[in-house]
Amino acid sequence: MHKRLRFGFSATVFLIFSLVLAFAAEPVPAPKPLAETSKTEPGNAIASPMPKPKPVQPPEAVSPHVKDAAACDLPGMDFESLPPVRGEFSGDAGCGIESPVRLTSIQREGAQVALKGAVTVSCAFAQTFSEWLQSDVLPAAEKHFDGGIKSIATGPGYQCRRRNNQPDGKLSEHALGKAVDISGFAMKEGASVSVETDWGKDTPAGRFLTDIQKSACARFTTVLSPEGDEFHKSHLHVDIGCHGKTCTYLICQ
Ligand SMILES: [Zn+2]
Repeated sequence: MHKRLRFGFSATVFLIFSLVLAFAAEPVPAPKPLAETSKTEPGNAIASPMPKPKPVQPPEAVSPHVKDAAACDLPGMDFESLPPVRGEFSGDAGCGIESPVRLTSIQREGAQVALKGAVTVSCAFAQTFSEWLQSDVLPAAEKHFDGGIKSIATGPGYQCRRRNNQPDGKLSEHALGKAVDISGFAMKEGASVSVETDWGKDTPAGRFLTDIQKSACARFTTVLSPEGDEFHKSHLHVDIGCHGKTCTYLICQ
């Protein structure tokens, strides 16, 4: 009895030892390489050595027309953006506008002030021009005339030509979309203002024109009135051209 117990104990110890050896000999499965893990588990950011893919950019706006309209910010103006304008004359290149806009009217307290003959100019000029019209010209008209302006008579803005249409002149600022000529105004009360006939007069029309010439000189780099020269007897010319090396020289006539 005692002997059999001892044998039983030894046999059990041997059996356990054999089992431990058997388990130790079992080959351990090799860990999967990380790259493979990342392939099968793309959501596992920590295990993945691959860089995160860059988000795909949405395609450009469908229409360049829409893109340009968004780029030129003209609050209070009715306008449309146009494709770039290119022009030549007499073999010379240089006319043109990179970002043209066509101005048609100004919104003023729920009403429209029309630009007679839509004006095509650069976006940069349109910004200065619209600020001048809205902040200076329309309020000045309301000061001198009941109801203010109904419409403004302008030239076309862009014209591929030399200064004052002289054959040997420099390129006009009109040829770059940086200028506009104004010849007169129609007021809501029925009065009309003509630069040619009312300039310099001590009348509401004359005082209104003097007011807007002064305010134009504070915004544009060039203002030419009938006082300026023989080429501007019939209109007020405003532009944002560069004078001098640093573009800081102003002409106000
Ligand atoms: Zn002009």
